[in-house]
Amino acid sequence: MLSVSEALDLIERTVNPLLEFRVPLGEALGLVLADGAVADLDSPPFDKALMDGYAVQSTDLARLPVELTVIEEALAGVVPWKVVGPGEATRIMTGAPIPRGADVVVPVEQTRLVAGSSCRVEIQPPSLVPGKHILRRGESTKAGTTVIPAGRLLRCTEIGCLAELGRQTVRVIRRPRIAVLPTGDELVPVGEKPGPGQIRNSNEAMLVAQLRQAGYDAFPLGIARDNRHDLRTQIDRGLEYDVLVISGGVSAGKVDLVPVVLAEAGVTQVFHKVRLKPGQPLWFGGIDRAQPESTAPTNFGKMGKYCYVFGLPGNPVSSLVCCELFVKTALRRLGGLSEARPKPIFARLATAYRNVGNRPTYHPARLEWTSDGAQVTPVRWIGSADLSATVEANAMIAFEETDREYTPGELVAVHQW
Ligand code: AMP
Ligand code: MG
Repeated sequence: MLSVSEALDLIERTVNPLLEFRVPLGEALGLVLADGAVADLDSPPFDKALMDGYAVQSTDLARLPVELTVIEEALAGVVPWKVVGPGEATRIMTGAPIPRGADVVVPVEQTRLVAGSSCRVEIQPPSLVPGKHILRRGESTKAGTTVIPAGRLLRCTEIGCLAELGRQTVRVIRRPRIAVLPTGDELVPVGEKPGPGQIRNSNEAMLVAQLRQAGYDAFPLGIARDNRHDLRTQIDRGLEYDVLVISGGVSAGKVDLVPVVLAEAGVTQVFHKVRLKPGQPLWFGGIDRAQPESTAPTNFGKMGKYCYVFGLPGNPVSSLVCCELFVKTALRRLGGLSEARPKPIFARLATAYRNVGNRPTYHPARLEWTSDGAQVTPVRWIGSADLSATVEANAMIAFEETDREYTPGELVAVHQW
């Protein structure tokens, strides 16, 4: 059976990024940059003051206090025109260009206007080295350098840099559209009271929320029943999205028809079953719809060339874990992110844990930041159907090694939700 890592490899190799399109900068938040953003200007574009104060010659600060003559006032946005000579100072504001002749800015807190004179200032100790409180032209970024590489997620900081670079529009990767299809004869809609043998359809709401929480566009298709006809109709609808996430019907039960119906619908299996707990029956495949992806400048309504399909085991925590590890890897790759695989952080285990059996276990856990760093505690959890336990959790611990005792204080890999 495939390991988690092998399954992630196959997903990365199978999934191709979606096409690029151009959006106004104001709509780029949460998307992935398609081409590197290069600086067109030096930043800052001129030597500028980092403090409100006086621009002077550092040689005048050899013996303090000293009185200097104020020759000009430089505000941000205005270029001072007088050259600062020995014994002179230009009053300067944060962000204003440094006048020629000056090589240091003395903060205003270190100065005092001389009584009875409108243009004399006294500079007090301490002395300052040349260049102090000045940001030199190009010191932050030189024109021509790549400030943001392709494949980066655009957060507020990248959006700010793009604005600084004068990008009114940016090329980004289209955001994937995902259909969520719950299956099962036992499922009733959330608003109904389950009869004998029935349960509420919690996976649909959870998976849609899990994907939306990660910033994706996810759409529920409604319950498909465990018969070939109903499954096929719903699956065909789902194949119109970039990704179809099915819950249930992929295990070894008599009505676990999802793999068969997917094959009938023309979807090629890449793998079925991964060695992990919970989530072992996971199914993954894809279909080439043999039509070029539209390059229309819209984020919605156009079909990509491929649809990738996940069959998640129906137990709620299995669905949750598989979506977290595998579906999101595919989505990061589809969305063009340079790093698609889930990246754990490492935290100290608070309590002992024994991983019984022969599969890595992804156990719901509470991750906390203490004065000693990250600490993680497995929550009480009785298995893949126990969704309520996950409410106390904000992460899962990957206990990779089987049949072994993990001791308190050990560093373990943790995936945060
Ligand atoms: P399956 O993977 O279809 O064999 O389902 C495994 C278990 O998950 C069964 O106990 C199902 O009742 C339950 N289950 C399947 N689909 C859902 C769903 N949409 N919401 C909640 N539980 C589900
Ligand atoms: Mg089922």
